[in-house]
Amino acid sequence: MLTAINLHKTYRKDAILTPVLRGLDLEVLPGEFLSIVGMSGSGKSTLLHLLGTLDRPDEGEVRFDGKRIDDLRADKRDRLRNETFGFIFQFYHLLPELTALENVLMPQMISHSVLGWLGRRRALRRRAEELMERVGLSHRLHHRPRELSGGEMQRAAIARALINRPRVLLADEPTGNLDEDTGREIVSLLHDLNRQDGLTIVMVTHNREIAAGTDRVVRLHAGRVESPIALSSPFLAET
Ligand code: ADP
Ligand code: MG
Repeated sequence: MLTAINLHKTYRKDAILTPVLRGLDLEVLPGEFLSIVGMSGSGKSTLLHLLGTLDRPDEGEVRFDGKRIDDLRADKRDRLRNETFGFIFQFYHLLPELTALENVLMPQMISHSVLGWLGRRRALRRRAEELMERVGLSHRLHHRPRELSGGEMQRAAIARALINRPRVLLADEPTGNLDEDTGREIVSLLHDLNRQDGLTIVMVTHNREIAAGTDRVVRLHAGRVESPIALSSPFLAET
């Protein structure tokens, strides 16, 4: 569904080069809940940005449904990103001046013309309210982010990520700023979305227990996906 082929990415700041991804290959299967783990600085966020077309690789390709998406023209790439990917982050990135409901509606406001928005605003608002209910936040529609707990902010961010009906949810350490129990609740919500709605999820996490609960775990090391020890590997066959 979503494929990374031979991705290379080096950051340049002044004369300093930081090679991060060095020929990374990864295939995300439709409907799977995939975890990405690896040391801090191993390139997990960089990989999510490239998969979600927020940034472009120096070399290699990203394909979605078999079509190359990393080299699309900027306007096409923006539209594809809006329609295809939902993002959630460790620090939520909600707009502080907007209510939770308005934050959830924001991606729809961006993707419509003014007239389109005015014409559909009631239906969209209803959909946003349904999503708020889906994530367990019906009682917090009109609260602003500073009036919400961390778990509630992440729930609002999840509803916002879902408003455009994305095919893939990209989650960058979504529990990294939450206590253990709240983190577990958020991951349990992600599992529900994965199982009940068939949402494909790629999640970066530092939490082993949380990673172990997902369908598959890949580890980044030295700019690539560390090869799993397959049952057919000669190493295992020998022992
Ligand atoms: P992770 O998410 O696994 O902690 P990142 O993908 O955020 O790792 O970063 C990988 C490396 O690239 C780090 O060494 C980081 O300092 C560097 N890096 C990330 N973003 C930039 C940037 N915009 N400019 C320069 N260096 C960056
Ligand atoms: Mg990161």
